[in-house]
Amino acid sequence: MDYAISRRLMVERQIKGKGLTDPLVIAAMMRVPRHLFVEEALQSQAYGDSPLPIGERQTISQPYMVAAMTAAIELKGGEKVLEIGTGSGYQAAILSHIAGKVFTVERKPALARRARRILDQIGGSNVNIKVTDGTYGWEEEQPFDGILVTAGAPEVSKHYLKQLAIGGRLVIPVGTRGGQVLKRIIRRGEERFEEESLLECHFVPLVGDHGWDQER
Ligand code: SAH
Repeated sequence: MDYAISRRLMVERQIKGKGLTDPLVIAAMMRVPRHLFVEEALQSQAYGDSPLPIGERQTISQPYMVAAMTAAIELKGGEKVLEIGTGSGYQAAILSHIAGKVFTVERKPALARRARRILDQIGGSNVNIKVTDGTYGWEEEQPFDGILVTAGAPEVSKHYLKQLAIGGRLVIPVGTRGGQVLKRIIRRGEERFEEESLLECHFVPLVGDHGWDQER
């Protein structure tokens, strides 16, 4: 299997083909070996247009969603970013090629361990992973230029808003367990936030003190 060819096709059809043009996002999607982030039996499907299971009842997001969310936090290079929901580590790997430092939080230790192992393998040394309830953000490392929440939230945790730099962008799926709207919130001032809806989506639930109660 020549994964470099599959990856190029993925970028042509699913990323550029669906209208995403940010050159930094496209370059990152070309570089990260997505097949390493799924189990061996699923590797041949890794460049398809869909999410895939990663164990623990969680999923690696569809390539388009990863690219769209990365584009939505509008990175120029070198920033400090926070991701909530490390999962496979793929989104963190994409961010690590653009941002200066990536902080990512996962509540399931087994997923965090596996993500760390793959990131070490491909040189993601600017990615820091913490195992805890990410609905509190990562207080010690704030402020962040961008925050990506990759699990569906019932509401926007006040911790994310507080930990956003002035001018920073928060991208978060908000809605019910069954479906969400991807929102972008830009911090325009100390107390001034601008919110817009980007697209409809379906993420696994964000489970925690400022998220859903538990998994069903
Ligand atoms: N970004 C991931 C996909 C995320 S799936 C990737 O690129 O593969 C959503 C992840 O969020 C799951 O791994 C789930 O365990 C995690 N999660 C759910 N609630 C969380 C919380 N409160 N804090 C941290 N991680 C959480």
